[in-house]
Amino acid sequence: MEAKSNYIFFAPEAVFPIIKDENGKALNNKPATGFPVAGTLQGEGKMAGIPVLFIRTAGCNLRCMWSLPNGEVSLCDTPYASFNTPGEKRVAVETVKNTILQNIGMLNHLVISGGEPFIQPGSLVELISMLKTEKNLHISIETNGTLFDQKLVEAVDFFSISPKLKNSVPTKEKLDKTKTVIPFKPDQAEKTRRNIRVIQSIIDHCNATKEKDFQLKFVVQNHSEIEEIENDFLNCLNGWKPDDVVLMPLGSTPDELLQTRMVAVEAAIERGWRYSPRLQINYFGGKAGV
Ligand code: SF4
Repeated sequence: MEAKSNYIFFAPEAVFPIIKDENGKALNNKPATGFPVAGTLQGEGKMAGIPVLFIRTAGCNLRCMWSLPNGEVSLCDTPYASFNTPGEKRVAVETVKNTILQNIGMLNHLVISGGEPFIQPGSLVELISMLKTEKNLHISIETNGTLFDQKLVEAVDFFSISPKLKNSVPTKEKLDKTKTVIPFKPDQAEKTRRNIRVIQSIIDHCNATKEKDFQLKFVVQNHSEIEEIENDFLNCLNGWKPDDVVLMPLGSTPDELLQTRMVAVEAAIERGWRYSPRLQINYFGGKAGV
């Protein structure tokens, strides 16, 4: 049987945005950015605006669903990588590495996003090790902060930890309203979504390791969530600075963001935290592959 760690399970975008295959042959279609070059901008957090290449892994241990102020329910902004992964691809780590190197050009940053990348740590450690041997790329990972793997944590340079608040839990009411089915009971998501031990371990690792960094990125829409961030997360953690806390408005469309952004702006100014835009929604409309 083939070792699972030799493959990465990807959402349909896999490595993106790209213009060449793993052998350097030009692809027929332009990437979703519309540009004739590989790469995009990191749209969120401390690294917003930096040119990067992404990979998007498939699968997640949570199923986030938020109630919006207008009563609508907003799903995770990459449901095809978390709720259902019908276009999931299994790609050999060597092929992934070659695809990245064929497209990296002048970029110096690779972002590993999901889904939740920490559900397949072995193959990602293998990929990072290969990449670091051939080209010393800066590696970021985007995680919900509920799973830990020592080797993967040691391999990554920047951690974008996005802990999930109570309003993200896929309650029966939200599931019924959106006619969505998930593979576990809502109370399991409630128990899983907050893991202080995991978040603290990543913070401690960054603080003990030169040139590593992290951010605690919270998606918010109202003032009670700011209190929840302080009471349920920040007051339980140490080793962070106000500058490490990033507030990002809830929403995956410009209209949804309009409903929520001023809460985040006000709270960030009041507490000396950061406000994060979602540049990918401004510039590319939040479509997949950008
Ligand atoms: S943790 Fe992230 S990827 Fe997983 S369902 Fe929630 S928002 Fe989506």
